[in-house]
Amino acid sequence: SAHRAPDYLTGLNPEQRLAVETTEGPVLVLAGAGTGKTRVLTTRIAHILATGRAWPSQILAVTFTNKAAREMKQRIGVLVGEAVEGMPWLGTFHSIGVKLLRRHAELAGLRSDFTILDTDDVIRLIKQLIQAEGLDDKRWPARQFAQMIDGWKNKGLGPEEIAEGDARAFANGKGRELYRAYQDRLHTLNACDFGDLLCHPIRIFRQHPDVLREYHAKFKYILVDEYQDTNTAQYMWLRLLAQRPETKRGAAVPAEGRKPDRAAGDFSPAPAEASGRSAASVNICCVGDDDQSIYGWRGAEVDNILRFEKDFPGAAVIRLERNYRSTAHILGAASHLIAHNEGRLGKTLFTEKADADDAKVMVHAAWDSEEEARAVGEEIEALQRRQHNLNDMAILVRASFQMREFEDRFVTLGLNYRVIGGPRFYERQEIRDAMAYFRVVAQGADDLAFERIVNVPKRGLGEAAIRQVHDTSRALRVPMLEAAAKLAESDEMKPKPRAALREVAANFARWQGLLDNTPHTELAETILEESGYTEMWKNDRSAEAPGRLENLKELIRSMEEYESLRGFLEHVALVMDAEQNEEMDAVNIMTLHSAKGLEFDTVFLPGWEEGLFPHQRALDEGGRSGLEEERRLAYVGLTRAKKNLHLWFTSNRRIHGLWQSTIPSRFLDELPEAHVEVAETGSSYGGYGTGSFGERQAGRQNPYGASRFDNVGQSGSFSNTYATPGWQRAQQNRTEATDRNWGSRSGHSVERIG
Ligand code: ATP
Ligand code: MG
Repeated sequence: SAHRAPDYLTGLNPEQRLAVETTEGPVLVLAGAGTGKTRVLTTRIAHILATGRAWPSQILAVTFTNKAAREMKQRIGVLVGEAVEGMPWLGTFHSIGVKLLRRHAELAGLRSDFTILDTDDVIRLIKQLIQAEGLDDKRWPARQFAQMIDGWKNKGLGPEEIAEGDARAFANGKGRELYRAYQDRLHTLNACDFGDLLCHPIRIFRQHPDVLREYHAKFKYILVDEYQDTNTAQYMWLRLLAQRPETKRGAAVPAEGRKPDRAAGDFSPAPAEASGRSAASVNICCVGDDDQSIYGWRGAEVDNILRFEKDFPGAAVIRLERNYRSTAHILGAASHLIAHNEGRLGKTLFTEKADADDAKVMVHAAWDSEEEARAVGEEIEALQRRQHNLNDMAILVRASFQMREFEDRFVTLGLNYRVIGGPRFYERQEIRDAMAYFRVVAQGADDLAFERIVNVPKRGLGEAAIRQVHDTSRALRVPMLEAAAKLAESDEMKPKPRAALREVAANFARWQGLLDNTPHTELAETILEESGYTEMWKNDRSAEAPGRLENLKELIRSMEEYESLRGFLEHVALVMDAEQNEEMDAVNIMTLHSAKGLEFDTVFLPGWEEGLFPHQRALDEGGRSGLEEERRLAYVGLTRAKKNLHLWFTSNRRIHGLWQSTIPSRFLDELPEAHVEVAETGSSYGGYGTGSFGERQAGRQNPYGASRFDNVGQSGSFSNTYATPGWQRAQQNRTEATDRNWGSRSGHSVERIG
């Protein structure tokens, strides 16, 4: 008929429109970055609502972050108005999981007011269990076991389902027992952890077909964004909800029967699921991009994409090939880079955004990260003068410690910024802890700081002991540190906490004595070493621990720019005061991982150096697949940019006061010359900070660093400096440089980031 298409459909290309209008049956949209996958999902929901196919409450829509969920809700609102208000099942896997579990808590042995434990709670609990088993919790760290449990839960494995080998790997073969004890403990506490938010519903669905049927009837349409990053548990959960039995009788198969051996990697559905395998039409639509799978380290299974057609027979697979986001240069660079990966499904991408005026992808060299931050700051200010909004700019870093330099620089410039997806540098737990130590040393009366670290790392100072310190402090009207020193000398306290307090008091007294006659960075390191704080994180085997250690090093590094510990503390107080809210115009700073799905006019990607990006840890632990995941991360980074893209590498990073020469990332070599331009290094690099001027000048004269830097600056030629075979060349240089003892002026050897 000659009906005009509704407004929300106009402007879609034919494939997008097909994906929106194929509302019935399974649909997989497999497409590269910026092709409108998220837009298809949003429009599809609008379409379903506008055509009266379902009520808002009958649509289950899963996004990767809460922020994405809010944005999607907003976009649907624009398309269909108030109808979006009632979309209770739009959210992340976790937020939807909580909702389901609250409704059926009793089926998981919980009350509906159950609490969700955070990581700290979980670790404390596990530690108690380990000790109760009579095991040494130093040999068998609670954090490590918490990680193992998390890994099992990502695969949907309960205590009975984990592999024998895994169960044996921990606590003298008591892994399974401990896992079981942990679940029992959660149960008694009426609590669950993050993994349970998926695993409990999965179990409930399996064991209570009537409940599952209720949701089969309820959810008429299921939609999933960023499908490439779903883990096994999320996948099971989805499949349970999406696969409907052909007949009503089919669903009533009891849950017991042949048990798939999940430990052996058999993720075939349990009998209750299996009954739904010859699935009737299921209106599920997943969108994803295998090239953007970046959470493998957290258990994501990109293979879920490959299984889709198998699990949902008759699925329509729709490919979108037109990129609407980026200029031809940006897209060309990204496509060329990702083509270096072997494990790909392969996709074509094109754009009609090709303008002769478009800027090429700019590659910049900087001497070190300070200069990198300064130059990025200048570029941002220049854009601002040309009426660009700060909101449209983003700095995407590989490792969170990199943020510090930018945050400091922006505070100095008075440039608004916000950190997305995590705390700002100085707000991080390990930084706050370290700062608390420094504060007590510099300002002995800082009771808040004292309380924060008096028992970090654990020294056997329990609540009772700390209360005693409090009481004494109040009674004598002296700061807690002084009260602690007094208590340590009296016999009012039990011997063990007393000895601990004595050590704390003696430590602080010693550090305070060093305050005026020791270089402050050295003192800071001494404090973190002698207090056992650094050690605490070194012994920690959680995934975050290495990042925290990196942050601590970065903290010490940042102190070098200040005259004294007090001067530094003042600076941090000012940084912490900087405003951060959603409303204001501000530069966005975040990790590459949290940038997924987002887009900005201008994107800065700093730190493209070997060891940092690709990250050494990913290479060490993941080998070839680790490298490919890093490359996908680079692809995600490049494809966030709409118009302008700036990549940076530095010739040196200074860690612990040591210059460390760095090599440009191999990913730079992998960019196509046609779309890339090496920026001329301008005069902007002249204005050095005062603190480290001499050092920097000394460093500059180094033949290795200086020559390559000058080379890039003068020639401006991509191929001469570091395009293939620049990588090998750089490596040669590096060997030479090491021979010259470069980077070890203080007699230490060069150490690697990561
Ligand atoms: P990613 O893989 O990064 O998540 P995506 O495939 O989800 O990307 P979207 O974010 O949906 O892509 O779309 C990218 C940009 O292109 C958005 O600004 C979107 O509004 C725009 N866009 C998508 N489709 C069209 C279209 N048919 N016409 C005009 N603009 C479009
Ligand atoms: Mg998207």
